[in-house]
Amino acid sequence: MIRFFKTFGLLTLMSLSITTFSQTSEISIKFIGNCGLYMTDGISNIYIDFPYKSGAHNYMEYDLSELDSIKSNPIFIYTHKHSDHYPGRLVKKLAKRLNGKIYTPWNVKDLSELNNELNDFTIDAFKTRHKFSINHYSYLITWHDKRIFISGDTEHAETIASLKDIDWAFVPAWLIMDAKEKGIKLGDIIKMFAIYHIGPQDNINITGDKVKMLDKQGEIIKIPY
Ligand SMILES: [Zn+2]
Repeated sequence: MIRFFKTFGLLTLMSLSITTFSQTSEISIKFIGNCGLYMTDGISNIYIDFPYKSGAHNYMEYDLSELDSIKSNPIFIYTHKHSDHYPGRLVKKLAKRLNGKIYTPWNVKDLSELNNELNDFTIDAFKTRHKFSINHYSYLITWHDKRIFISGDTEHAETIASLKDIDWAFVPAWLIMDAKEKGIKLGDIIKMFAIYHIGPQDNINITGDKVKMLDKQGEIIKIPY
């Protein structure tokens, strides 16, 4: 009887230390290319607009090893289905092999599953406009109380401007231009801007201490919580 309790105690301790080990208390966001991001809190693995079709529309290519390093049980979330964001069959094959799930504007209402499945996570989807795309969504992810906005390709600043208290906003440069032209002051509601989807030919330079230009692939943003 005594031995049984000892074993039980050890097992409990072990599972406790494993939980502590995987709990990093930060969200890490790796910029892979275009609007492709890998987000993790050490427990769940979320890929935004990645994988896409490498080099599509003359935008960024990525090393094929990026595909091999996709974790198991991945969650793939897409803003729209243009090939510089979405690769078609490739992600379906990956999801099948790695036991992943795919969310696109076509099954956007299924995203509510994630609110139950993931730890301290909610996602809100906003239908936004993008030229030549019939179905485009932007997302507000609230994870461990951090608010992260994923703009995707939309050219219009109104949706993000309707929100508040954003910790990190991932936006393309053209959205910043749009806000400027319309006199929308995004700096009041956004703590940090990550400017993504910079093409190899683009000559964009947005400066400021709240701005991170994602022009180097592999860059990692850490958000402690
Ligand atoms: Zn694009």
